[in-house]
Amino acid sequence: MSQKSPFEHRARKRFGQNFLHDAGVINRIIRAIAPKSSDHLVEIGPGQGALTRDLVDSGARLDVVELDQDLVPLLLANFSLKDNFHLHQGDALRFDFSQLQQQGEKLRVIGNLPYNISTPLMFHLLSYQDLIEDMHFMLQKEVVDRLAAGPGDKHYGRLGIMVQYYCQVDSLFPVGSGAFNPAPKVESAIVRLRPYKERPHMAQDVKQLETVVRTAFTQRRKTLRNALKSLITADSIESLGIDAASRPERITLAEFVAISDHISNNPTEP
Ligand code: SAM
Repeated sequence: MSQKSPFEHRARKRFGQNFLHDAGVINRIIRAIAPKSSDHLVEIGPGQGALTRDLVDSGARLDVVELDQDLVPLLLANFSLKDNFHLHQGDALRFDFSQLQQQGEKLRVIGNLPYNISTPLMFHLLSYQDLIEDMHFMLQKEVVDRLAAGPGDKHYGRLGIMVQYYCQVDSLFPVGSGAFNPAPKVESAIVRLRPYKERPHMAQDVKQLETVVRTAFTQRRKTLRNALKSLITADSIESLGIDAASRPERITLAEFVAISDHISNNPTEP
């Protein structure tokens, strides 16, 4: 009779658990991150430790944030003897990442993320962008395509524009579903987000920029003039050197910032 390990864990759907088991893929991710012993790493959702092992072995300080209490004994059994390993049991969406920073060094964030929380988690992390050097995430491939898309691309829209406002985005490589257990229904990909030290385009009011972009893309198939008519006149769009007859998916981040600043400076228009 086979003995059941005390740490045997059944993957939980509600925590988005798809554990990586492909050594080649794990290796490739670690090479892309290239952790150094002087780094301060933060892994979100270490799960059964597929990436954690190499991250700990790099010698870097590693803080991990795992929601599932049932994984805690397994993670402690595997890693608690390493004094660079620090486990935080809790929800990464509510986690105060500023408490991790020490001596002014920046955090390098890593996560094979549960797909259902990936977008809110990215925005939660972006609220700590000044503390973050870079982030490497495994996400649904479609989300990576949206993050990296530029004007004219069918994946271009609100998510990509707002993340590109804060970060340089590099789509690194796709990962097939066979690399996970259980296999997810969709393909995945690795993306690197590097918050800008100096943003190439600064909106006077980022909330206004969010409103403009959200409004433009809820009306994706309309012209810019029609999509944004509650916020700005066609003449004003043209006065910024932007064709008011173009569709939102053709408008660059710099142009959205220009529209947003015009609205901030002309609050009574239209
Ligand atoms: N890193 C492991 C791997 O690559 O095999 C596990 C990846 S699995 C896709 C996602 C992990 O995130 C699971 O361990 C899950 O329990 C954890 N998780 C889910 N929601 C979370 C949350 N809100 N905060 C922190 N961890 C979370």
